[in-house]
Amino acid sequence: MTSSYDAIIIGAGQAGPPLAGRLTAAGMSVAVIERKLFGGICVNTGCIPTKTLVASAYAAHLARRGMVYGFRIGGEVAVDMKAVKARKDEISTRARNGVECWLERMEHCAIYRGHARFLSPREVQVLQLVARGLSNREIGATLLISEHTAANHIRSILRKTGCANRTEAASYAHRHQLVV
Ligand SMILES: Cc1cc2nc3c(=O)[nH]c(=O)nc-3n(C[C@H](O)[C@H](O)[C@H](O)COP(=O)(O)OP(=O)(O)OC[C@H]3O[C@@H](n4cnc5c(N)ncnc54)[C@H](O)[C@@H]3O)c2cc1C
Repeated sequence: MTSSYDAIIIGAGQAGPPLAGRLTAAGMSVAVIERKLFGGICVNTGCIPTKTLVASAYAAHLARRGMVYGFRIGGEVAVDMKAVKARKDEISTRARNGVECWLERMEHCAIYRGHARFLSPREVQVLQLVARGLSNREIGATLLISEHTAANHIRSILRKTGCANRTEAASYAHRHQLVV
């Protein structure tokens, strides 16, 4: 299936969604393509996760130095890393969902989940590799019935991921929730 847009944005990190907002507000039709997690590095592995971890560390640090501030905590201040990580994941997930919802509700903005690659200066193909929840055998079948040849699919997965074989490529696609 082929569609045309005034602008195609590859990546829904920090840059893509605000740009989509500006372009659609100016009356343009926009496609946003994201292959992994909405929000990109900042939301999922960069700014937000690191700042939430640092905030937990700082809170523990302050609690341990309560006497300096004139308060006493009964007992030792222990860090529960599972809880710290759960807090980080919750904040990150909320931000990621926020970005995704924002784009989904944006008028004149189409979202594609998959890996974008240029076919020509004005043509972009979205590779939606494998369906979530399929067995390796079913994934093999999905690859075969896709619009591209199986050989092309396998080559593109292996090239992008560095996977050694189809099983590894399928496992990669499961982990990254690449959906047909
Ligand atoms: C540990 C850490 C802490 C940081 N802390 C801060 C901070 O405190 N403040 C700050 O200002 N900055 C911080 N940064 C930097 C900040 O995360 C980046 O500047 C910002 O994420 C860049 O946004 P971006 O949209 O350009 O790219 P990205 O966030 O990398 O987003 C790009 C998106 O494009 C997608 N994509 C890429 N190629 C394709 C393709 N071919 N097809 C489909 N999708 C594709 C990716 O999956 C990704 O979602 C930090 C970075 C790190 C690593």
